Amino acid sequence: MKDEILRHLRYGLGKDAAHSSVYDWRMALSRALRDRMVDHWIPSTQEAYASGSKRVYYLSMEFLIGRLVEDMASNLGLVDEAKAALKELGQDYETIVKDEPDAALGNGGLGRLAACFMDSLATLGIPAMGYGIRYEHGLFEQDFVEGQQVERPETWLQQDHIWEFERPEVQYPITFGGHVEHHDGKAHWHPSETVIATAFDTPVIGWEGRWGNTLRLWAAMPTKVFDLASFNRGDYLAAGRSEALARTICRVLYPDDTTETGKELRLKQEYFFTSASIQDLLRRFLSTHADIRTLPDAAAIQLNDTHPAIAGPELVRVLVDKHELGMDEAIALARRCLGYTNHTLLPEALERWPEWLFGRVLPRHLEIIREIDADHLRRHEGAPKILDHGNVNMGELAFIMAHKVNGVSALHTDLVKKTVFNDLHKIHPQRIVNQTNGITQRRWLKTCNPALSGLITRELGNGWVTDLDLLSQLKSRTGDVAFKEEFVAAKRANKVRLANWVTETMGISIDPDAMFDVQIKRIHEYKRQLMNILETVALWNEMRAHPDAGWTPRVKIFGGKAAPGYHVAKEIIHLINDVAAVINSDEITKDLLKVVYPPNYNVTMAEVLIPAADLSEQISTAGKEASGTGNMKFALNGALTIGTLDGANVEIREHVGPENFFLFGLTAEEVMERRTQPGFARAAIEASPRLQRVLGQIVEGRFCPQDQGRYHGLVGMLYDSDYFLVTCDFDSYYDTQRRADEAYKNARNWAAMALVNTASMGFFSSDRTIKGYAHDIWHVGSRLGAGEEAAE
Ligand SMILES: *Cc1c(COP(=O)(O)O)cnc(C)c1O
Repeated sequence: MKDEILRHLRYGLGKDAAHSSVYDWRMALSRALRDRMVDHWIPSTQEAYASGSKRVYYLSMEFLIGRLVEDMASNLGLVDEAKAALKELGQDYETIVKDEPDAALGNGGLGRLAACFMDSLATLGIPAMGYGIRYEHGLFEQDFVEGQQVERPETWLQQDHIWEFERPEVQYPITFGGHVEHHDGKAHWHPSETVIATAFDTPVIGWEGRWGNTLRLWAAMPTKVFDLASFNRGDYLAAGRSEALARTICRVLYPDDTTETGKELRLKQEYFFTSASIQDLLRRFLSTHADIRTLPDAAAIQLNDTHPAIAGPELVRVLVDKHELGMDEAIALARRCLGYTNHTLLPEALERWPEWLFGRVLPRHLEIIREIDADHLRRHEGAPKILDHGNVNMGELAFIMAHKVNGVSALHTDLVKKTVFNDLHKIHPQRIVNQTNGITQRRWLKTCNPALSGLITRELGNGWVTDLDLLSQLKSRTGDVAFKEEFVAAKRANKVRLANWVTETMGISIDPDAMFDVQIKRIHEYKRQLMNILETVALWNEMRAHPDAGWTPRVKIFGGKAAPGYHVAKEIIHLINDVAAVINSDEITKDLLKVVYPPNYNVTMAEVLIPAADLSEQISTAGKEASGTGNMKFALNGALTIGTLDGANVEIREHVGPENFFLFGLTAEEVMERRTQPGFARAAIEASPRLQRVLGQIVEGRFCPQDQGRYHGLVGMLYDSDYFLVTCDFDSYYDTQRRADEAYKNARNWAAMALVNTASMGFFSSDRTIKGYAHDIWHVGSRLGAGEEAAE
């Protein structure tokens, strides 16, 4: 390893060891690791080709990957070797790992799920390809200026992204606009704009390098660099038009996946990567198969939310216009290839485009969607339509064009059946299935929490890394005092690490023995960070009134970004920061309560915060969080959850047992019922003196004396509408927090509960989730050991 690093330093980077920066060392280490990856990757790719086995194509607008050096080193079993080699070279492995920017090509849970799935697919040896967009700027970087969020562009590609291989030979034209002519019984689309999609491949290597898949991200290029004739005529803008379109398409990730954006550019982005992916998988298929009708035996195409839902009409278009299949046959064939994952019930997040806009960008696809609607209505009278009230409904499109539609937790799937797709579900009762989300334990325990994962491996061996159910053996250790002490010591080491980081980066000192209470996720009204900060103020009031009442000291930790256009979310951020400033400088409560909100929450920050958490905040309004995956990461790392019966919380609670979970709040049904009562929020506030007082303090400007009216709108909204029922759940949340305080005082018992949480999380491995998709939706198998099978 040492020689390889030095060789890359010299011949790859043109540097000598004496004059190399941390960046140079990181590049050299990464290249050395990448060589080893390629040695696993190429044989897998060859095997997949040679065997002709069915592949999974996972289409996702987002892949929230994070750093890769450590992930790659860990999956290749090279962490110790790399550390030793660098040490001999006088370099520090940790410093080098920390130099890598996050690959943040996603907003939150949806993108992170795609990244976990890629890891599990490779570990399980399922031939698969992830398809997405190579955004020039990933998710914006967040900073706080006077407590308010400011966004700065993210620039991950300014440094060499060492993991990818450019594939200039893999290019497809992507066309937009123009008009369609019909003659000789055929449709002819004459588009007005074209860009070229070109591929960048990142190897994804599973545990111990047993199998490797590819993440193929598309970048857009102009059809011609520039139009020389226009340029010579002096028309400089026209000369660069094609270039401008190409650059725009891959320029930015839309910083919000929870609202439908009516932007034409967004539609172009979606079509761009979906069309490139469909063209690519068809080329691969046709290079080894003669009969297009067998495509469903070779390709399972999974749509991660509706963003790639245009895959349905696009596949139909190619089958009809290029391969001359009949429309009915093409629709049926495409459906057998496609699966659709629904991620949300929030009505504002269900994508729909005005028909006129859609038709202007994709005129042929609009015609095909009309045919799909007609075909479906012919078979199912009165069925919901894709084209309705002048809109193209992407949810209905994805549903109708998929042979399976899945929700992402048991509760969510149930609600999908009862609400958003109720009519379609009645027509197709077999179509909706559940696949509860999962997380990869390789990143979210093995790598991010060496203290705990080392202890587990010492106790159980390392089988848990690929079979998380083995953690259940730890349940028998809850009575083992010595083991529990080590478990607690691991948590404490992580808390000390976090406390040091908070002191260094924020100048706030926090006590590692206080309860670390963490809520990290996108800032959204339904996730109710607002309720958390209101409870913090209520607690602070009580602590000030009775400082000697034997309080459990707490550190309230927040993390998360608000979409730049989401005004209310930004007000909530401002409020948290205002409250933090006042509480953190209070002499009376200084040993009892701190509020910490480090800016720019991302995967790397999650990897530091989660192992150090005692209490995991999963407090969304019941019925709104489809699954959550943050909840799983925390419980796996030995935090107890305070949460509502929402998303996968329900299943987590079943697995860890109700006695090891702090439950509060209305159920999804009660939420719907409560909303029908006029004035429910005002009534809830009037019934709670504690909440009234907190809201009064905020309105009086207790946390913003220079600008007393700052939160009048926010508080007014709680009185008048409170769609997410912060007021109704407040008291029950407060009381449950006090139960958590009491429980924390009994350190031994808390440790036992935390250990049960870790031990019960086997079900929430993304390996289990992927096996579910493979069995119920994709009908694909593992290629691990396929070589040996053939030899037998
Ligand atoms: C896991 C994860 C999420 C999802 O968190 P939820 O609590 O499920 O919303 C979002 N962002 C990052 C960086 C994550 O790692």
